Order: sequence, then structure tokens, then C-alpha cells
Amino acid sequence: MIIAKFGGTSVSSKESVLTLCNIVGSELERQPVVVVSALSGVTDLLLSLPGLPKSKIGKTIRKIRNLHYNLIKNLWSDKTLQKEIMQFIDNQLDAVAKLISTGNPGGEFLDRLASFGEIMSSFIIARALEKRGIKAAQVIATDLIITNNNFGSAEFLLQPTRKKTKMVLTPLIKQGIVPVVTGFIGSTKTGQVTTLGRGGSDYTASIIGFCLRALEIQIWTDVDGVFTADPRIVEGAKSLQTVSFKEASELAAFGARVLHPRTVRPAIKSGIAVKVLNTFNPQNGGTLIEERSTTQGKIKAVSFKKKIFLVNIYATEMLYQKGFLAKIFRVFVRYDILVDLVSVSEVSVSVSVDERKNLENAIKDLSEFSNVSLIEDMGMVSLIGEEITSSTKTIRKVFEILDKEKILARMISLSAASINISIVMESDKVEQAVRILHNHFLLTTRLS
Ligand code: ADP
Ligand code: ASP
Ligand code: MG
Repeated sequence: MIIAKFGGTSVSSKESVLTLCNIVGSELERQPVVVVSALSGVTDLLLSLPGLPKSKIGKTIRKIRNLHYNLIKNLWSDKTLQKEIMQFIDNQLDAVAKLISTGNPGGEFLDRLASFGEIMSSFIIARALEKRGIKAAQVIATDLIITNNNFGSAEFLLQPTRKKTKMVLTPLIKQGIVPVVTGFIGSTKTGQVTTLGRGGSDYTASIIGFCLRALEIQIWTDVDGVFTADPRIVEGAKSLQTVSFKEASELAAFGARVLHPRTVRPAIKSGIAVKVLNTFNPQNGGTLIEERSTTQGKIKAVSFKKKIFLVNIYATEMLYQKGFLAKIFRVFVRYDILVDLVSVSEVSVSVSVDERKNLENAIKDLSEFSNVSLIEDMGMVSLIGEEITSSTKTIRKVFEILDKEKILARMISLSAASINISIVMESDKVEQAVRILHNHFLLTTRLS
């Protein structure tokens, strides 16, 4: 069995949906399970609803409706069929409108709201497969993926998820029916809807792949695989034939949107091959994510994040004190803030954080025992490759280049695992730094 996940752009146009059907049709022997994202832009539109004035809510819901209606009309000329599928979309959007009018914008509410995107897309894709002569059934992942209640970025619970996934999907697969599963969403043990974090459909695919011991997980997207840098930012970026599990995880965790950061973890555990492929160029072999790196000691790719926060914590009392770091990190734990990079000196600690959520509260608590400054609108550029920090030449060159470009490093981190060099800088310098570092280290290298 294989898992084939199709992202937003892959389910948004007639052409890409027809390609999806062809891909699935050509894999029937390997018993595909399909996982889909919401149509492009729909999750953002849904999540924007609670912040809108009442007068704009109707307009945004109509926009979401039109995105789906247009796809339906492009896919089928049969008016009865169109009407039947549009009715499903209308029912879901009525439920969205009702939720908005009654809900309170907490985590649980937002996850329920976001879940409608995948519920609508999976219905359309299941019908598209059926119309193409492939037996298919929509499966809502709240019946499969059981998570903790960390709304907005929930983690799956292995035992119940494995049990449910097998229970629901195996009979379908045995009957030759292709399950079309909603990506991104799950539910708590008590049935509250959760989401796995933005971009989480990739993770859904790998969770299902892990639970069903799939042969392969295919991530179908809108570029030819994992590139040496985001191809939208760097003109000369090239698609990589292979990257190691470690390199892929690191790239994703440090900003490359092509994969959800947690995707490769289940695959690593069970040795399942993960491929990143292009729905708009299915002939291309894409990128294979495999256990070992083929390019030890070389920079494989550059990734970046923008709009991150740098928290600088100074305390002279830190000098020679035991437990001071623990005291600091307890505050971040208290407010459930994920710390990315950390740099420590005798009297200061700097940490980088992706989100603003709860940051003010944490700073208030930290200020009780230290001086804290917050620097907003920072960015981070990361160079990824196994064993890269073991070369002094590479490190020296990185700083020479930044110096030449007059880019000030506000914080630096060399991973002890030797796979990542990250530099925090002003957000508006990030793209320049990515291009220049990519051009130096990756434009001329032979890639594997
Ligand atoms: P999907 O909707 O298919 O999940 P995403 O938009 O989440 O697609 O991810 C694909 C996008 O990731 C690409 O269009 C590309 O701009 C971006 N991206 C960022 N870094 C990389 C990289 N290193 N390799 C490939 N794509 C990247
Ligand atoms: N639709 C969700 C999002 O936009 C999940 C995904 O696309 O993977 O984040
Ligand atoms: Mg994605």
C-alpha cells in the first residue's frame, strides 16, 4: 500500500485534479490511500472569518463557495452532478456560518473552523475519482487520527490512531475502494476537532503511512521536489534527487514549507520511503527522502524564516548560578512557547521564537528576575547538510560572505549534531542572504 498526499494547488484546478486521478489510477495495484489538503487559500480564508466585521463575513464565505463552485463547474458539465456536489459545499458553508455566529474564537473553535476546508476538498476529490471509474470514498480524519488537545498544533496518539486507522481504512482497501482522507485534522479522545498545525496534511499522510505500514509516502505538490532553496525566492535553485531523513527534517523545521516539520519522523521510525513529487510535472522523479545522506560534509540546501522574534535576557546574577537556565525555560514552558534557537553567554541568554502568542506574558514573568528586550521582525537563514559544521572552511566562508554583504548576524547557532548553521538577522536582509549564500555554496556544486 502507498499513501499519496495532494496539497492545496494539486486539488484546486481542473487540470491538477485530472492529473491526480491519473496518478491514483496508475497506482491502483499498490492500493493507494489518498490524503488531500483544502483548496489553495481556503484555510486562510476560513481562519480569517472570526477577525472580520459582520458585514464582511458573508462576502468571505461567498468567496470560499465560489472557489469550490468554479472547480466543480470546470470539472463537470452534468448539471445534476454539479448540483449534488454544490449542495454538499453549501451545507458545509452553512455550518461554517452557524459556527461563526455562535462560537468563541478559542483554539478548539478555530480548529473546527479550519477543518471545513479539507472536508469540502475531500468530497470533491472522491467524486472526481469515482467519475474517472475509480472506486473511492471520502474519509474524515476525525475518525482516524486521535490527538492530544493541543489545538492548533496537536500531536497524534499512537495506540488509538493505529487502531482506528486500521479499523476504518483496511476494509475499504480490501474492497478495492480508494479512501480519500482529509489531511490536517484529527480529534481528541472526546471528539473535539483538532488540527496538526499549518501545512499538516503532509503529517497526516505520514501518520497513516506509519499506522498501516505503507511501502511509500508520496507528497504531491507544485514543485519538482525538495530544492536547494525555495525556488520562488532563488532563481537558480535546483531540485535534489535525494535528501536524508535528517536533512529533510531540519530543512522543514527551519522554514522550508515544502514539508510539514513532523512529516519524516514516523517514516524514519519505520523506514518508509518518502517522495516529494510535482503534480504539475508528474514525469519528474522528484526527491527521495532516504535514511542516509549522499553528500556528507557539504551544504545541501538553504532555508529561511521571516517574522521571528528574538528575546534577549540579561542578568548579572546569572554568573556562576546553578539552575538559572532552568528558571528561564520554565517560563517558556509555562506559556507553551516553542523556543527555536538558543545562545548563552555568562550574563545573557538569547532565544528565537516563531510566534507572538503568549510572548508578552512570558516577558513579564522573565522581567521579574532579569532585563528583557524583545526584537521583532527578525529573520533566520539556515544552511543544512550532514556534517557541515565540521568544516572550519565552510563556517569561515559563511561569515566572510555576510561581512562582505554588510549583513549583521544578531545570533548564531551551530548545531551540535553538525547538520545546521543558523544565523538570525534583520528580516529584510533574509532574501539577499539566502540568494548570496545559495549562489556561493550551491549554484556550482554537482548535486545528488
Ligand atoms: P502544498 O500545498 O502542496 O502542501 P506548499 O505550498 O505547502 O504546497 O509547499 C510547496 C512550496 O514550498 C513550494 O511552492 C515552494 O515555494 C516552497 N518551498 C520552500 N522551500 C522549498 C524547498 N527547499 N524546496 C521546495 N519547495 C520549497
Ligand atoms: N490546509 C491546511 C493549511 O493550509 C493544511 C495543509 O495544506 O497541509 O495549512
Ligand atoms: Mg504544504
